[in-house]
Amino acid sequence: CGVFGIYSAQPNDLAWMTYLGLFALQHRGQEAAGMCVSDGDKFHVEKDLGLVTQVFDERRLDSVRLPNARVSIGHVRYSTTGSNLRFNAQPLTTRTNKGILGLAHNGNFVNALEVRAEMLQEGALFATTNDSEVMLNLIARESHMDLVEATAAAMKRLRGGYACVLMSRTQLLGFRDPHGVRPLVIGQREDGAYVLASEPCALYAVGARLIRDVQPGELVSIDRDGLHSLMVEARQPTPCSFEWIYFARSDSRLDGVDTHESRIRMGQQLAREKAVDADIVVPVPDSGIGAAIGYARESGIPFDYGLYKNPYAGRTFIAPTQEARELKVKMKLSPTSAVRGKRVILVDDSIVRGTTSRQIVNLLREAGATEVHFRVSSPPITHPCFYGIDTAARKELVASTHSVDEIRDLIGADTLAFISEGGLREAIGGPGLCSACFTGDYPAGTPLLNDVDKLA
Ligand code: SF4
Ligand code: MG
Repeated sequence: CGVFGIYSAQPNDLAWMTYLGLFALQHRGQEAAGMCVSDGDKFHVEKDLGLVTQVFDERRLDSVRLPNARVSIGHVRYSTTGSNLRFNAQPLTTRTNKGILGLAHNGNFVNALEVRAEMLQEGALFATTNDSEVMLNLIARESHMDLVEATAAAMKRLRGGYACVLMSRTQLLGFRDPHGVRPLVIGQREDGAYVLASEPCALYAVGARLIRDVQPGELVSIDRDGLHSLMVEARQPTPCSFEWIYFARSDSRLDGVDTHESRIRMGQQLAREKAVDADIVVPVPDSGIGAAIGYARESGIPFDYGLYKNPYAGRTFIAPTQEARELKVKMKLSPTSAVRGKRVILVDDSIVRGTTSRQIVNLLREAGATEVHFRVSSPPITHPCFYGIDTAARKELVASTHSVDEIRDLIGADTLAFISEGGLREAIGGPGLCSACFTGDYPAGTPLLNDVDKLA
């Protein structure tokens, strides 16, 4: 998912700015979009299933516009457990005796079901099946405290990988889990307005510059007195390596590491580790482009566009069913003449289920490639993600049940090789990394066993 928030002391069209921010974050979720806007008095919410441009046509955007808007948050959703339901769209809102609150959440709370069960026993009510609502209810029921204290208390109660923005009528909060698994950045416009977003591209979209990342375990709050920071609980930082491998936009910079450059380094590392003789290096667009550039640069084998991507097709992985994903590959990719009679090194960022990869290898062979050597800029994904990236349930992960040679045969490649986990760490650099989906070593905890069964 993607989150966005803006606080402006000057009158600004915050509904429009939130729309622009969400549009820049569209790659992080295409199932639903929504926003809340307040001017200190009124509090508007609109959300629905669909892309940002579909949910917010002119009429709908007008309906949340406030001439003296002070604070706004927004969300783009991609559901991680297949519950593509309208009432799970965000932001979520709730009323407390101190007023209305809105929450937009990226990630997952691993102990949400336990905390939810405890709260139900204490008489709490839940309207959705969404773990985000547990966070919102925890904050709301501590409304005798001030909002920052209440949120800090809720952060201590819930574990997992998350980044959230929260608003009242007069305040904007942003917070990141103690390990900083999910990203959140702070920006500022020249008129002083503060912006929070999952990635810097959403800051630039509203004319803000990047100030810094929210730190792991940090809670920032913005009100008429400016920006305040509270360190709630910091642990060893382990931001999600998948943000750099695949998820974040290539113009992003997260925790000081540029995504495009890191992808090039992954490709270079891959070329050093898993060299093979061939005529051209072809990326699977768009997610394999950075690594393919790096592979070509390091190996000296020319980079070429062997696959045309229809720019009107969305990201295939995020389509919720297998049939939808397979159809979308055909709608999205077709081979170019560059591969005819060539030995091709095909570079992609990841193999999750293996179905897309098999289709692509097939496309290249049909187009006359004489050899297809598949190179992957992430290690084999053997474990599910419990922190908000939909790398599929464990039994669907091809690498959790198949060896590299078996996967090679399944996808029909001549050779198949993945970057090593150490090589990946080196390529990204930075403080520390979550790589649980490659290792099974979950830095921010796992759900209780019965939940794991459900998810796996
Ligand atoms: Fe990212 Fe994988 Fe960790 Fe999930 S398990 S947060 S996808 S590195
Ligand atoms: Mg891809």
